[in-house]
Amino acid sequence: ESWPQSKSVSYEELQEILIETPKAEKAREWSQYYTSGPHLAGKNLSQAVWTKERWEEFGVESDVVSYDVYVNYPLGHRLALLEKRGKGTRDLETADQKEHGLGDGWKVKYEASLEEDVLEEDPTTGLPSRIPTFHGYSASGNVTAQYVYVNYGTYQDYEDLVKAKVDLAGKIALIKYGGIFRGLKIKRASELGMIGAVIYSDPGDDGAVTSENGTETYPKGPAREPSSVQRGSAQYLSVAPGDPTTPGYPSLPGVPRQSVNGSIPDIPSIPISYLDALPLLRALNCHGPKASSFGKEWHAGGLGYKGVEYNIGPSPPNLALNLVNEQEYVTTPMWNVIGIINGTIPDEVVILGNHRDAWIVGGAGDPNSGSAALNEVIRSFGVALQKGWKPMRTIVFASWDGEEYGLIGSTEWVEEYIPWLSHATVAYLNVDVGTTGSHFTAAAAPLLNKALIEITQLVPSPNQTVAGQTVGDVWNGHIRTMGSGSDFTAFQDFAGIPCVDMGFNAGPEDAVYHYHSNYDSFAWMDRFGDPGFHYHVTITKLWALLAAKIVETPVIQFNATDYAVALAGYLDSVKAKGTALSVDPEIFAFGDLTAAIANLHTAAVAFDAHASSVSHRVSHASTSIPWYSFYSRARLYAAVRSVNTKYKTLERQFLHAPGLDGRAWFKHVVFAPGLWTGYAGATFPGLVEGLDAGDRQAVRRWEGIITGLVKDATALLGKGKYGVEMEWG
Ligand code: GLU
Ligand code: CA
Ligand code: ZN
Ligand code: ZN
Repeated sequence: ESWPQSKSVSYEELQEILIETPKAEKAREWSQYYTSGPHLAGKNLSQAVWTKERWEEFGVESDVVSYDVYVNYPLGHRLALLEKRGKGTRDLETADQKEHGLGDGWKVKYEASLEEDVLEEDPTTGLPSRIPTFHGYSASGNVTAQYVYVNYGTYQDYEDLVKAKVDLAGKIALIKYGGIFRGLKIKRASELGMIGAVIYSDPGDDGAVTSENGTETYPKGPAREPSSVQRGSAQYLSVAPGDPTTPGYPSLPGVPRQSVNGSIPDIPSIPISYLDALPLLRALNCHGPKASSFGKEWHAGGLGYKGVEYNIGPSPPNLALNLVNEQEYVTTPMWNVIGIINGTIPDEVVILGNHRDAWIVGGAGDPNSGSAALNEVIRSFGVALQKGWKPMRTIVFASWDGEEYGLIGSTEWVEEYIPWLSHATVAYLNVDVGTTGSHFTAAAAPLLNKALIEITQLVPSPNQTVAGQTVGDVWNGHIRTMGSGSDFTAFQDFAGIPCVDMGFNAGPEDAVYHYHSNYDSFAWMDRFGDPGFHYHVTITKLWALLAAKIVETPVIQFNATDYAVALAGYLDSVKAKGTALSVDPEIFAFGDLTAAIANLHTAAVAFDAHASSVSHRVSHASTSIPWYSFYSRARLYAAVRSVNTKYKTLERQFLHAPGLDGRAWFKHVVFAPGLWTGYAGATFPGLVEGLDAGDRQAVRRWEGIITGLVKDATALLGKGKYGVEMEWG
């Protein structure tokens, strides 16, 4: 008799099923379905129901669950470059002049199209139901003012402008996409008194593939389609994700709603293409300093060959922008699909999730390459179920709605089930974009690093320039820390559940990915993104095998030593930051915390060794000791259970109930989205932000808090003496 796993399907057989079952034709079929019509958040019920039906066909019990969420939908917009006494312009309508308080002589120099071109080669770009270009959670408004080019609109970019005494108050910001989460670009603009934001996609940020070097633009070639626009959420992500009216609790019918002040923008914003940005940028030529004079972060964009000199402005008083953004705000249902395969152990749960909603009709890359993969993962597990497999641990699958507006479906669900999730969840495995190119990228909680790395070695890469190479062989091996920007955030930062987020992204030699644009379409994916759908199949296998590894091995495949090592590294970078800021070294000596982490390291090494010896005894017991007694078995089981419970709850030790300063929703003291990056993670955010603010007391306080939690984690693991010692014979 083997260790408590299915008698009909062994772990090895399951792995084989998960490698053999996923098929490119199937992934292509799922992709085609999801990308054939609009599926904006709160407007995709038919896709939710369809998803549930597929999962049930695969043999997985599923449900559609809903939340009532506060969101915006676009009504109208306008962006015009106005000039006084311009040549070759048409007259402003009189009503317009009145409305904007403009005197005589103002003409429209350029009326932005704000539309993406309809392409014959890409049928869904022309659907009448296609979704306008707009920002999620943007503020309605109608403003007319001079404008300033603010580079990427990072906190530092604005600081550079303030230092150079560039007038920002009362102006409109012309911002380049890239680097940080778009909502934070708008947040800082608003804090500095700016009254509107226009964000454009500069082709200089798409790597080597641009129309400048002669590469054809989509649909003829792989370069950026010039009219493409990046939609996206303008929520102030680093304050709290989820429905902004219900921070910390689920948006169920009838719950009290909070004011959204401070969590979404109060100035209007719109996204535009570089084609629409060109006349605005050109009009700044010769006005104000050259962007490049502000330092290396301010390198010119990729439109030099179109006559843009990248001056920052401000535009002269006779040159202004009229920005109109009209949004309708409603409270409306959003739908998650939740599927479950019950394991023999009910309180050890592994969750796999992907979002279903997209800004556009397509979404072939974001998110539906992940949605197609999730369906293939579930279909593959379904094949095992048909063979009589019952997993050791319970598996939950989630197709989230509302990710794009602010990780809403996942956040509300975590907020609703937090007691159960805290008690039972082992890990959350997220795939948002399954593939938009050939570069494997991953972020993980350190507990999961080893499992992730091992899985990349099991799956062949579609890139076979060297025969037989695996995903791991062609991967640079870099694992990012958990930041934000996708559905793992509530699991990692609110619930203290270790997460992985992975997918294949476009690298410099891949076709330009038209993120949040109509050209993230099935036609693009089929021709440029993943012809043959091999990367879809590859991410499916990685995801399924990683899940199987965590679900089916008697001792959970975590590594606590990696966590302790990571903590020491994070603390080193905080110390380096202190040095760089020339803060009084006494403030960042961190003697107590350094010692606490060293003790955790000692405990973790001993604990991992104990776990692996328990694991070894299990496989020994299940394969080669037929006489293994019931008594020994029970004791071994108790040892396994004790190890697993500690691994399961280790990440939770790092939660601090009052949350981070100024953003109480974020409970994790080790990982958070960077306050001014959003996507990129901050480690030890309390310490880092304290140092940044020059707040000695905050730094002290956070050192105390973190040190206490590190000690709790150490106590959980124990001092290297473990209750159940096994004897043999
Ligand atoms: N993936 C979405 C984006 O980057 C997330 C939005 C959010 O985190 O609010 O736009
Ligand atoms: Ca909520
Ligand atoms: Zn996404
Ligand atoms: Zn997205």
